[in-house]
Amino acid sequence: MTDLTGRVALVTGGTRGIGLATVRALVDAGATVVLTGRDESRAKEAAASAGAAAGLALDVTDAKAVSSLVRSVAKEHGKLDVVVANAGIMEDALLGMIKEDVVDTTLSTNVAGTLHTVQAAARAMMRKKTGAIVVLASIVGEYGSAGQTVYAASKAAVANIAKSAAKELGRSGIRVNAVAPGVIETDLTAGLSEDAKAENTGKTPLGRLGRAEDVANAIRFLVSDEASFITGQVLGVDGGLVL
Ligand code: NAD
Repeated sequence: MTDLTGRVALVTGGTRGIGLATVRALVDAGATVVLTGRDESRAKEAAASAGAAAGLALDVTDAKAVSSLVRSVAKEHGKLDVVVANAGIMEDALLGMIKEDVVDTTLSTNVAGTLHTVQAAARAMMRKKTGAIVVLASIVGEYGSAGQTVYAASKAAVANIAKSAAKELGRSGIRVNAVAPGVIETDLTAGLSEDAKAENTGKTPLGRLGRAEDVANAIRFLVSDEASFITGQVLGVDGGLVL
């Protein structure tokens, strides 16, 4: 079992889905975990249910808010070892139907939000010259997906944030990796039709859709010492799905 005893971790968008499963996985491994959510009461509720140290309100599109929250968590706990930039949104639209506000919200949440989180994490980790960051890319960021051009492009950018930041931060002892989930059953994918689910299951060699815990387990590995020579990677957690 991965041991994260004594580690301080922060998970954005930790109130449900992959974020909440990650909080639980890190708590189970012994870490002190702070989670954030857009809504304060839901964040507090989720923290209490998962055994996290705190649940705080944060909108990752607000660079100043991200910076000050990360700084205050690091100050309160004396350090910050692990940051999981999980918050993200997905809105489908065929090319001709993409609305400008969807472009703005998707890029500001998925790309800028992840970037703000990685920047703030790096600043907090730099002093101790150690730390592990994981960002949430997606299988569609690599292969593309009809009807998901904006989301897929945003996730390609997220994967590159991990690769570029890893190059910049490696000498400071900070590792940065991405996970690229396939189709995972959460609120994000709840709108998928039964036909779409069956089609994706059929294309998945392991014969099922993913669970939030499948992704959380991969994240827990990547932030642990077991992954101490792994950085700048994009780890598929997709049951072998080929799009
Ligand atoms: P979800 O919708 O269940 O959870 C997303 C979380 O992000 C929520 O807690 C939400 O409140 C939070 N969030 C959204 N916008 C935010 C903002 N501006 N500020 C702060 N928090 C914000 O989705 P999920 O399936 O658990 O997805 C988690 C991550 O994994 C996302 O980045 C998503 O793109 C990625 N992902 C999911 C799948 C999948 O199949 N579910 C596949 C590939 C990648």
